Amino acid sequence: MIVMKFGGTSVGDVEPIAQATQIVHEAVTGESAWLGGLGRPSESPQPVVVVVSAMSGVTDSLVKAATSAANRDEQTFRQVKDSLFERHRAVIEAIVGDGETHSVLLSEIETLLHEFENLCQSIYILGELTARGLDAVSSLGERLMVRVFAAALRSRGVEARALEATTLIVTDDNYGSATPLMDDTQARVQANLVPLLAEGITPVVTGFIGATSSGIVTTLGRGGSDYTAAILGNCLDSREIWIWTDVDGVMTADPRVVPEARTLPAISYAEAAELSYFGAKVLHPKTILPALEKGIPIRIVNTFNPEHPGTLVVTEAEPTGKTVKAITAIKGLSLITVEGRGMIGVPGIAAKVFSAVAREGISVLMISQSSSEQNICFVIQQEANGRALRALENEFELELARRNVDRIWAQGNVAIVAVVGAGMKGTPGIGAKVFGALGRNAINVISVAQGSSEYNISLVVDEKDVDDAVRYIHQEFELGQACL
Ligand code: ASP
Ligand code: MG
Repeated sequence: MIVMKFGGTSVGDVEPIAQATQIVHEAVTGESAWLGGLGRPSESPQPVVVVVSAMSGVTDSLVKAATSAANRDEQTFRQVKDSLFERHRAVIEAIVGDGETHSVLLSEIETLLHEFENLCQSIYILGELTARGLDAVSSLGERLMVRVFAAALRSRGVEARALEATTLIVTDDNYGSATPLMDDTQARVQANLVPLLAEGITPVVTGFIGATSSGIVTTLGRGGSDYTAAILGNCLDSREIWIWTDVDGVMTADPRVVPEARTLPAISYAEAAELSYFGAKVLHPKTILPALEKGIPIRIVNTFNPEHPGTLVVTEAEPTGKTVKAITAIKGLSLITVEGRGMIGVPGIAAKVFSAVAREGISVLMISQSSSEQNICFVIQQEANGRALRALENEFELELARRNVDRIWAQGNVAIVAVVGAGMKGTPGIGAKVFGALGRNAINVISVAQGSSEYNISLVVDEKDVDDAVRYIHQEFELGQACL
């Protein structure tokens, strides 16, 4: 059994949905023009659990509708409602064959959109949007899509059934970024999903959402449909988890920045985790853990180029002769520095810095402290800059007055470049090559950190230098050339 997740662009329009449903059809029938060969275990018919995202852009517009309603705007959510209806109707009319009654499906879509309108109307009246309310609204994109996708599969002769993950994935009540409770989820999957598979039905499950044990809808965080696929794969002990997206797997760098970037045939879970954490938007970072726990391989494959083998994520990737595998970058960041000669040898400064920032709910992407202990610096999203500085100034009011801390300041418009590869571990000279490549090309490195896993060296550079930095490092390690 394979769990297959189709992302927003793979279900974003008539053509992609036709393509995606053909892929599922081939897998379940074993009549595979695309999926066989390539070392993929799909030559024979096999059960598939489908996970779908909302159509591309839909979650964004739902969020916009809810936030604008809270800001006393009564127009936007009504426009969003009309455009969502149109988008789904167009797909239904184009793809769902005669066997399926359009009117039944359209009335289900209308019911959900009516729910959407009521929710937004209440938010508008209250003038307030809670995290719980936002989850109720933003979950609707997936709830719409499963119905359409399951119907499209039925039109191809696949016996498919739409399922809401609210009946499968039990989470805590941390709205907006809920965590699954795996034991409860496992029990629900056994009770509600396994019997369908046993009957030969292909379940089509909403990505991104779950529900608390009392049934209130939650979401797993933006981009969380990948995570859904991994949670279900874990509970079902699936053979593999396939993430169908719009690129040929994980690449050595962003091909828009580095034209000679290549697809990596295989990477380890640890490498995938580092890459997704550092901005390679191929996998939701939380996807790795449920797969790793059961050693289930994840394949990242392209809906629009299904013959391409994509990238396989496994426990131990075969050695490729490359120490560095990929380079990613995150822009729009700010480097905050807390500096003072009086900090030397004083315990607890770092704890105070990071608890002040954590209380503001600001997440820290990278930390570095010089061993002289005269400064601690860390990187955050630029938009959190003001809040972080205010929180730190409050926290260190006394130390600033006593001059134990001299200065707290921010440098905006910086970027992190992350150089990732498990082969870097214990290999001397990687740092020298990275800095050599940048030094020869006059790119200034503002700060550096290396995780003790040694899978990653992260550098902070000025945002204007970041694309060049990625290109020079890519070239230095000859990542554009095929693996040995
Ligand atoms: N639809 C959700 C989002 O846009 C989840 C996903 O696409 O994975 O964030
Ligand atoms: Mg996604």
